[in-house]
Amino acid sequence: MDKNPYKIWLSEIIMQQTRVAQGTPYYQRFIDKYPDVKALASAPEQEVLRLWQGLGYYSRARNLHHTAKQIEIFFKGTFPNDYKVLLTLKGIGKYTASAIISLAYNKPFAVLDGNVYRVISRLYGIETPVNAPEAEKIYSEIAQNLLDKKDPGRFNEAMMEFGALQCVPQNPNCSVCPLTSCCIAWQTGKVSILPIKIPKRAPVPRRINYLFIHSADWLCLKQRPAGDIWQSLYDMPEISGETDEETILNISKDFSFDIKDIIKTAQMKHQLTHQTLQISIYDIKIKNLKNKALKPYTFINFNELNKYPLPRPVEKFLKEYVQIPKLW
Ligand code: SF4
Repeated sequence: MDKNPYKIWLSEIIMQQTRVAQGTPYYQRFIDKYPDVKALASAPEQEVLRLWQGLGYYSRARNLHHTAKQIEIFFKGTFPNDYKVLLTLKGIGKYTASAIISLAYNKPFAVLDGNVYRVISRLYGIETPVNAPEAEKIYSEIAQNLLDKKDPGRFNEAMMEFGALQCVPQNPNCSVCPLTSCCIAWQTGKVSILPIKIPKRAPVPRRINYLFIHSADWLCLKQRPAGDIWQSLYDMPEISGETDEETILNISKDFSFDIKDIIKTAQMKHQLTHQTLQISIYDIKIKNLKNKALKPYTFINFNELNKYPLPRPVEKFLKEYVQIPKLW
């Protein structure tokens, strides 16, 4: 295990809510482009978001960038080796702080990730749901008691690996497990029901109508505001709710473009954690583009699009329907 705190932090942030197979190429891309915290701190946010594109939960990328700058400014580019100080940095919670402090600095803080929750729940037969408000206190006390204080980094890695490789979520092979003699779940036949999780609320449906406003070379985009999905990413103008071509035509007149054509060109569904997006895209061709800066919109040349971080469905639309190559 690499003991470089920057690499541990980067990897932990990228792998949160992400499958290893999906996160690994992103981690490699970030390390190649930003080999240390200084390189990340001095990058423009737009570039960082662009590199993150497709990974979702963009607040992680914004926090990553913000924290890199803080470490550069306030800690002279060196990761703090104090647990409480780490917790003051944006995007670093107890889990990430424990991982950095134990794996990089070998300090006695137990890591509690999904794998460790599962192992503890089964070993101790704990039926408190792992996402209940009181769960963290209960599970972290046990993890902290179990921790090998002399070698906490190796212990934490071993716990996470044990959960990832042996005590897996579905059908663990308990017949070869060395811990059956002390595993309550195995002894009481509860392996398949532990750990318990409170079901998440169903995602809310949301309809988005995108206006794909373009001339031969230019595309109209705007930067998304704070307080909504995809904050700071570049997106096409949108209209919420039910609509049709006539309404779109009337709204489009406000842009004072010389409109050549409006066609409903694509429909797609996109699943976010809390929202199910039903997306319609209206292709609006314009002639004689004179004003390229119409706040809050701006026209971007198709050749320059690869510099802008785009929401996944917009990227997909531009690649598949408009067939713009080199978006990556
Ligand atoms: S006996 Fe089965 S459930 Fe218990 S720790 Fe081992 S693999 Fe996990």
